[in-house]
Amino acid sequence: MIKKLLIANRGEIALRIVRACKQLGIQTVGVYSTADSNLMHLRFVDEAICIGEPSPVHSYLNVERILTAADVSGADAIHPGYGFLSENAEFAERVEEAGLTFVGPAAEHIRLMGDKISAINAMKKAGVPTVPGSAGGVTLANAEEQARTIGFPLLIKAAAGGGGRGMRVVERVEHLLPQLQAAKQEAELWFGDDSVYMERYLKDPRHVEVQVLGDGQGNAIHLYDRDCSLQRRHQKVLEEAPAPDIPEDVKAPILAACVRACEQMGYRGAGTFEFLYENGEFFFIEMNTRVQVEHPVTEQVTGIDIVVEQLKIASGYGLSYHQDEIFVRGHAIECRINAENPRTFLPCPGTVQHFFAPNGCGARFDSHLYPNYTIPTFYDSLVGKLICHGQTRQQALAKLRHALDELIITGVTTNVALHRDVILQDTAFCEQAQNIHYLENVLLKNNSA
Ligand code: ADP
Repeated sequence: MIKKLLIANRGEIALRIVRACKQLGIQTVGVYSTADSNLMHLRFVDEAICIGEPSPVHSYLNVERILTAADVSGADAIHPGYGFLSENAEFAERVEEAGLTFVGPAAEHIRLMGDKISAINAMKKAGVPTVPGSAGGVTLANAEEQARTIGFPLLIKAAAGGGGRGMRVVERVEHLLPQLQAAKQEAELWFGDDSVYMERYLKDPRHVEVQVLGDGQGNAIHLYDRDCSLQRRHQKVLEEAPAPDIPEDVKAPILAACVRACEQMGYRGAGTFEFLYENGEFFFIEMNTRVQVEHPVTEQVTGIDIVVEQLKIASGYGLSYHQDEIFVRGHAIECRINAENPRTFLPCPGTVQHFFAPNGCGARFDSHLYPNYTIPTFYDSLVGKLICHGQTRQQALAKLRHALDELIITGVTTNVALHRDVILQDTAFCEQAQNIHYLENVLLKNNSA
């Protein structure tokens, strides 16, 4: 088993990883930037090391400083969490070259899936259905021909894209080349890689994803599915498990295809296959080679601790479960709690005054907040995840409504009211799962009312 783990992350996920380590008797090393010395998880780690200035390139994205921290603390493994260096193949390589265990997949699989064009090609080969789109990258020279085959509207996407950035919908052929040029510039700016590809722009799909675990030896299991269709600017706001109202016989072949793809690759660790689901069909869009923000909903319905499993797999213990031991019990829903302005959705850092976390009766609040904690300006606005588990979707929704009433965060502006007063009061959403455009349409209506 890993003896001493360096957590190369911050915020709620760093605390989440500490909790998993405590269960397994693994010692922990926390790293932090000079803006982050007050992080909650640093109170529980065995050692805390300051790795640099607030700007992520000087701290949480700085490979040299993180490796030096691992060296001086004697850590034998690194967990990258999500974001930051979690999907950086070179970082995974550098960790292993330093003789440490990377809690994640092999660098070659991070690289394969990090380039969405190669990911889509790999999935096609493994028999996973993909969105009809360009065969590989798109250039100014071949764009029109490719677009004619795909049809309009289509979506230009950055091969190295992430976080919902770098996507452009093109409605008509005369907009194609200017949009393509702009998309390439954007992709170069954000991701340092101007490769783009095109997909059919599905009209009203849902975002449905499959959680997998692989042992790196050709064995893999799935932990069923999640629906993450409530989004704003292609960013998830609320997630649930299982994905509602999809017939078992439609889900089963997709779950099996994801497992098969992992087995063929020899995939190691936790991963998520993301799909769009429309008119009874699944279309693969990308794979995330890390633990996802929304992993708790899967944990609540399967009873499996995904971070513990990541640590066991990285330690060489293989998979703790056979597929036939994994069941979905009830329904779980997660609200992402962001410190953000409810109108502009821009991050709203500040100092927390009063704080109360809901608990009991199936409520779980994964968060690093506490009274007098000052949220720094340099990082993500996610400050917590409220998850409720019930026997049915209706029960989970009812519990969430109450849990949101109990949740107290004063001193900083958050999106709690969006969840409590808008989403969880929305009749159509509460009756059945909606598509990826639904939340933005609801918000538009509310703003114009
Ligand atoms: P990122 O890695 O930036 O998150 P994804 O490929 O995962 O990008 O897509 C993010 C979101 O964008 C999806 O959840 C969906 O809402 C929307 N999207 C992506 N591809 C398509 C498509 N072909 N048609 C319609 N919407 C799409």
